[in-house]
Amino acid sequence: NGSLQDIDPEIADVLDQELGRQRDTLEMIASENFVPRAVLQAQGSVLTNKYAEGYPGRRYYGGCEYVDVAENLARERAKSLFGADFANVQPHSGAQANAAVLHALASAGDRILGLELAHGGHLTHGMKLNFSGKLYDVAGYGVDPQTFRVDMDIVRDAARKHQPQVIIAGWSAYPRHLDFAAFREIADEVGAKLWVDMAHFAGLVAADLHPTPVPHADVVSSTVHKTIGGPRSGFILAKQEYAKKLNSAVFPGQQGGPLMHAVAAKAVAFKLAAGEEFRDRQRRTIEGAQILAERLLADDVASEGVSVLTGGTDVHLVLVDLRNSKLDGQQAEDLLHSAGITVNRNAVPFDPRPPMVTSGLRIGTPALATRGFGEAEFREVADIIASALKPGADIEPLKLRVKKLTTEFPLYPGLEQ
Ligand code: PLP
Repeated sequence: NGSLQDIDPEIADVLDQELGRQRDTLEMIASENFVPRAVLQAQGSVLTNKYAEGYPGRRYYGGCEYVDVAENLARERAKSLFGADFANVQPHSGAQANAAVLHALASAGDRILGLELAHGGHLTHGMKLNFSGKLYDVAGYGVDPQTFRVDMDIVRDAARKHQPQVIIAGWSAYPRHLDFAAFREIADEVGAKLWVDMAHFAGLVAADLHPTPVPHADVVSSTVHKTIGGPRSGFILAKQEYAKKLNSAVFPGQQGGPLMHAVAAKAVAFKLAAGEEFRDRQRRTIEGAQILAERLLADDVASEGVSVLTGGTDVHLVLVDLRNSKLDGQQAEDLLHSAGITVNRNAVPFDPRPPMVTSGLRIGTPALATRGFGEAEFREVADIIASALKPGADIEPLKLRVKKLTTEFPLYPGLEQ
């Protein structure tokens, strides 16, 4: 019954150090966020002890009367938040949700068509070392080489040429809206199912600040931990006709017992996502990304070869284009890290530099919006980043500016691990 500190001081120390890192730096990895304390509480609860294979009311274990309530709440809240007929809230992660979606919509050897990984797609959309690339026959569409946007004529041509069973719309690194209605039309034309992976932009959809894929797609998958800001996990929405297939693809198809502590935490996150505070946070998230894009397009950085892919953003992230900069992605990531800002380097489409180096950065605003940042703070962050990306930048004063922001916006005040 000892505390973590008593039983395992080494791991307790990791938790302390990580809390300190999160508090003292500016987290701008586009796929990360800070969960509310209510989510931490649900995830660190006794629900982690419970086996609950099956679904509410139809479990393979006794004693599920309380976890059933949690899962029903999570399902109903997810459905109502996104206006969906059906929800499965059991996937342990986004990748596992996606494995279940393909399991339900396709058979091994079937052709799938998604955005190429090098152009912003995800590993689970057909990367050759991933299950999706090994089990399915993968075809890809790229962005337009001039505009760097997904062009529906290119998608249509690829769909006609490859005749896929499943078309995938969704991305991990792309700064614009997708035209879900056009994807639907193309899927219908070639007789494909349409799967939208909204892992990144689900929070914006929930806040009505991004077009919803739900009425257009056969199936929609998502994570809960990116823009939504809930527990690290996944979920699936669909039209009712896919309910049985998807449920059986998740369990027993892909998983055993659901993580009921995570399911309960998802219920909490979906409840919060229906509120006005959440909507305001998503609004600040997009505003912050747009402020950053605007700053990185200004003359003083443009003259150093720094630019922004597609000339701006509609979402929670900015793709910085360093193809014409002396800095490569790795150097830029390291420089920002030394100033106390965490981002990730990212290949840009048609990247001339190797994948471990890259010519881009992916910078996201969800975690800082959760921390409370608004217009003024995002202007300051954008200026710090612009200053750091200039040759010979003096990092010391930038570190102080970062420290001022982290101090003014304390993270998890009073929380000790
Ligand atoms: N789908 C997309 C579009 C993603 O960007 C990600 C995460 O990066 C995933 C799925 C996978 O989520 P997870 O890391 O939870 O497996």
